[in-house]
Amino acid sequence: WSSHDFPWTKELEVNNKKVFGNHSFRPNQREVINATMSGCDVFVLMPTGGGKSLTYQLPALVCHGITLVISPLVSLIQDQIMHLLQLNIPAAYLSANMEWTEQQEILRELNSDYCKYKLLYVTPEKVVKSDNLLRHLENLHVRELLARIVIDEAHCVSQWGHDFRPDYQGLGILKQKFPNTPVLALTATATASVKEDVVQALGLVNCVVFRQSFNRPNLWYSVVPKTKKCLEDIDKFIRENHFDECGIIYCLSRMDCEKVASNLQECGHKCAFYHGTMDPAQRAFVQKQWSKDEINIICATVAFGMGINKPDVRFVIHHSLPKSIEGYHQECGRAGRDGQRSSCVLYYNYSDYIRVKHMISQGAIEQSPMASGYNRSNMINPGSILETNTENLMRMVSYCENDVDCRRLLQLVHFGEKFNSSTCHKTCDNCLKITNFIEKDVTDIAKQLVELVKLTGQRFSSSHILEVYRGSFSQMVKKNRHETVSLHGAGKHLGKGEASRILHHLVVEDILVEEVKKSDYYGSVSSILKVNELKVCNLFAGHRIILRFPSTVK
Ligand code: ADP
Ligand code: ZN
Repeated sequence: WSSHDFPWTKELEVNNKKVFGNHSFRPNQREVINATMSGCDVFVLMPTGGGKSLTYQLPALVCHGITLVISPLVSLIQDQIMHLLQLNIPAAYLSANMEWTEQQEILRELNSDYCKYKLLYVTPEKVVKSDNLLRHLENLHVRELLARIVIDEAHCVSQWGHDFRPDYQGLGILKQKFPNTPVLALTATATASVKEDVVQALGLVNCVVFRQSFNRPNLWYSVVPKTKKCLEDIDKFIRENHFDECGIIYCLSRMDCEKVASNLQECGHKCAFYHGTMDPAQRAFVQKQWSKDEINIICATVAFGMGINKPDVRFVIHHSLPKSIEGYHQECGRAGRDGQRSSCVLYYNYSDYIRVKHMISQGAIEQSPMASGYNRSNMINPGSILETNTENLMRMVSYCENDVDCRRLLQLVHFGEKFNSSTCHKTCDNCLKITNFIEKDVTDIAKQLVELVKLTGQRFSSSHILEVYRGSFSQMVKKNRHETVSLHGAGKHLGKGEASRILHHLVVEDILVEEVKKSDYYGSVSSILKVNELKVCNLFAGHRIILRFPSTVK
């Protein structure tokens, strides 16, 4: 598909320069364009910032007829339209919350013989919930004016993805109605199972798949223990590494955003917060200030970031545990779009896991706006969604707990990509600090920990279990007379980090389960450890647990 000998090659090159102002094509852009213009169904996996828009906007410009683009968010659509109009490419959009007369105006134009639009953007709801639009598309089709159908952010189709949007599942109707119109599905995030879902739900036929490495060599990844001094640490980190540079700090709750922002302001940083409960005008104002460098730092929930095109974001900090590796990868991906070195720092502690888990189960967590169709009433199977979310979170915990393997490798494995960690060139914390590691069989320790949870009646938190296991005589231990339990002190030879890593691994493996007890007024939650009898038998049936530990730390 990379050939320069297609009939449209010359025209593409000219327009890429003249209209879009690009000197050349980025990896896979030419290939994708050639495949879709040849009439194939095409599935594109391209990292954020890779230049997906050009792969349909340029064909839309040079092909006869109209390109239909399905995109999940009105705000994203508006950005795109504005950009296209600036380039003098006629484009329009339809959305449910638009004035009726305005919609009629656009539909009338679609029906006219000399329809001026090259691109028509719609939200998925428009396709799935309105026959009216489909009728107009049929009309275009009959007149041979429906050039191509583009599904942007195609991973929203999949329940396994992190931005599931039920309306996307109804988009299969497009291929049924227009079997010969080429479909181009685009996403920046897809594991193998997500890809299968997308291909199936959209009914893509013999589709050509383009995927490129999701590795971002200019991003430096690290996971840092989150302590009570976290805000001081963040201030210090920014001051020492990115003073007066631009960055995003992702926080879990709205309250966290405001707290982190005000704290950093007091430390002299130009900083603001951004979250879902602010009114749209306020949000737009903050985003604009940030885009124009009037402020450097935005403390935001995941509501912030979609469609953000700022090239010089020098750091993305996660103040709390992200919900999934896919989400994490995408949030980090907003840094360093200009290719310059940028930092991605995640502040991790295990208690955040319990907090996030609780919020997920309560449906209290702020979603990326792409997933805004997600709510309990229209869930196909809320139970399985909750399970997927919990599992995604678990993988994230396992990523953070791992202090041996290359961070890039851990992320890329998740996307089904092979990666040789020697090519990380020590640009992640684990590659940087580790010169060697040892593998240790921790099965016996694991068994003891499970036993201890049972001996104490499955009523205590993980940190309490660790204290007893390592032989503490703290007040809490004595109050419960746990210094008399037979396994008290059985793990006193272990370091605190080592013991907690093993315990947390048992949670990740679902052998122990954190049961969230209650959340108090301030949103902090407590939880107790229970034993999952279904899984624990594996442990006693000869299944070994091997973990890697650093042997030389620089
Ligand atoms: P994605 O949708 O994959 O995240 P975009 O389509 O928004 O990425 O493109 C990201 C940025 O890269 C945009 O600013 C766009 O103008 C720029 N871009 C895209 N293709 C090229 C190219 N061939 N040459 C130079 N810049 C490009
Ligand atoms: Zn590495």
